[in-house]
Amino acid sequence: MNFNNKKILIFGVANKNSIAYSILNELYENGAEIIIAYQERAEKLVKDACKKFKNLDYFPCDVTRDETIIDLFKYIKKKYGKIDNIVHSIAFTKKEDLMNRFIETPKDHYQLAHEVSAYSLIQIARNGEKSLKKGGSIITLTFQGSNFVFENYNVMGICKANLEATVRYLAKDLGEKGVRINAVSAGPIKTLAASAISGFENMLNFWEKQSLLKRNVTAKEVAKAAAFLLSDYSSGITGEVLTVDAGFSKVGYLDGK
Ligand code: NAP
Repeated sequence: MNFNNKKILIFGVANKNSIAYSILNELYENGAEIIIAYQERAEKLVKDACKKFKNLDYFPCDVTRDETIIDLFKYIKKKYGKIDNIVHSIAFTKKEDLMNRFIETPKDHYQLAHEVSAYSLIQIARNGEKSLKKGGSIITLTFQGSNFVFENYNVMGICKANLEATVRYLAKDLGEKGVRINAVSAGPIKTLAASAISGFENMLNFWEKQSLLKRNVTAKEVAKAAAFLLSDYSSGITGEVLTVDAGFSKVGYLDGK
């Protein structure tokens, strides 16, 4: 896949385990010029993690602070004019909401989780649409907790259902501008965000036993699917959720032999 001369903005690199880091790696190796939007407090960690990549550009952005999103796109307009793609790989909820009963989720925690994990995609698309070239595209990362019940995923499952519906409605608005938007629904991968989910290791083990490929997926496999959705190879696809889960979601009943 050729990303030569493509300028791509990536949200969600926290460290080398981040799914966004693997996407960065995939796009960089195929020639893309990358701008990383990171949370200011994590600047050192992010820059250390990305040391091996030459000539990355960085700009601080916290999606709960509207002015940082506005400043980011002003910077992009001034420095780059137009860009080709945006990767949204962001989610947040308070750890206790992934441990307590879902029914106990406080209103302010529910709102914060949705603001960061789903509404941020609308803000980024709204601010980003003028910066994206015709033919450009956006991707986001989701999980099957949107459609099925997963132990301890709780409010984040509702955020992912919101996010996937958001992708479809944004696909309409952006489609009018010739811009696409899609989601990759990844199987479980050990990352910082995943470490907040109680019993995550058990989920990985269960996945390995139940999935059609009898294993978990890798961040690299998710990154390759992300690259496909960002590239011209998927030029006819928008509003889609592409599942990369080793076939886990296709299982109804197997007798285990
Ligand atoms: P991760 O490395 O912890 O990435 C999450 C990112 O969200 C971090 O870079 C974090 O920045 C950023 N973020 C949180 N609040 C933010 C804010 N207010 N403003 C800007 N950025 C903010 O974990 P990950 O697993 O790669 O998660 C990336 C995406 O993949 C998420 O949407 C997640 O739900 C999704 N996903 C993950 C899995 C999995 O099993 N890991 C499976 C399917 C989908 P800080 O670290 O600086 O807070």
